[in-house]
Amino acid sequence: MWIPPACTDVPERSMTSSVRTNLVSLDVEHMASLVERLGWPAYRTRQILQWIYQHRIRDIGGMSNLSLTDRETLGREAVIERLASPTLFQSADGTKKFLLSLKDGLTVESVLIPDGERLTQCVSTQVGCTLDCGFCVTGQMGLKRNLKAHEIVDQILTAQDQLRPGDRISSLVFMGMGEPLANFDELSEALTRLTDTEWGVGFPKRRITISTAGFSGRLHDVAGLGVNLAVSLNASTSEQRDRLMPMMNRLHPLPDLLAACRAYPIPANRDLTFEYVLLQGENDAADDAVRLSRLLRGIRCKVNLIPFNEFPDSPFRRPADPVIAAFRKILRHKGYDVFVRQNRGRDVLGACGQLGTLPGKTVASHSIGP
Ligand code: SAH
Repeated sequence: MWIPPACTDVPERSMTSSVRTNLVSLDVEHMASLVERLGWPAYRTRQILQWIYQHRIRDIGGMSNLSLTDRETLGREAVIERLASPTLFQSADGTKKFLLSLKDGLTVESVLIPDGERLTQCVSTQVGCTLDCGFCVTGQMGLKRNLKAHEIVDQILTAQDQLRPGDRISSLVFMGMGEPLANFDELSEALTRLTDTEWGVGFPKRRITISTAGFSGRLHDVAGLGVNLAVSLNASTSEQRDRLMPMMNRLHPLPDLLAACRAYPIPANRDLTFEYVLLQGENDAADDAVRLSRLLRGIRCKVNLIPFNEFPDSPFRRPADPVIAAFRKILRHKGYDVFVRQNRGRDVLGACGQLGTLPGKTVASHSIGP
């Protein structure tokens, strides 16, 4: 029986053969259909998924709990076609940026950020972005296309392939290229594969954060995913948000966004996170900090201040350190937990808002791969 796709990550035919199915493009229902069509017992679905997501094999021949005959049968039907080896950019601060080539020739970036014992991966959900936020390189590229679930998951599998023995990724943040909630179905399917403990990557949901520029109508769907939510507010008035994030604020004006945040069911022992990019002379005044504290009143949250990461030809500037410290101090006095995000990976254009390419600009120096 053919089960209709749960997501648009529909079975993909391999490049190397016009008839073979790419196993990484199948969701669990499609994998089960394939197993059923081959006349195999249902538990084989789990075994195949485990090989892909837990052992990260790239060759059906390596599925050693399938008989040789079954591996040959599967090999005639299907392949495991992961993304090609990434080009790596190594920052002086230890951050690694991965440039991944997709099948259609487009590229997408992902960043691995070590911090003491912790290792955070910043994951992309679109090539380019739906939105047009003026302070973000990805926003200047326009939207090339949404990533498929398997292209999202492959960013994590690829990073895991690169880790030294004993290292592991401690958190995933969907803060790379694109607007995650504008690609919700693929994001949700990717999260299923990343968090399933029986056959998937097994990543704990509480260590995953989705960051949105403010698709307020989607917030209740995010709540159902069981992961953490971060909202990029970036402005203390509607006028400011109109100027800095025009498309977003037109689609979901600031008052609607704040109402959706107030209604958001924040799980016990967790906080909502608000991100606020600090732009010199735009939104970094003491008055902004006071207004921001009023906007957030009554919401259980913490605030992440992100000093602007500069990129070529950008009209914006990063505020001076004392201005950042003063902004933080005001919010702290108002009772908020406030963190200033370290601008990691700036030398390889791997920091927040620096992912992507502008016409005529080179991506970054210090390539050390593929
Ligand atoms: N579209 C999502 C996720 C991608 S951006 C969102 O907007 O949340 C991730 C974070 O980086 C957001 O908080 C965004 O406001 C911030 N950001 C974008 N460009 C930046 C830049 N040049 N410098 C610092 N932070 C930036």
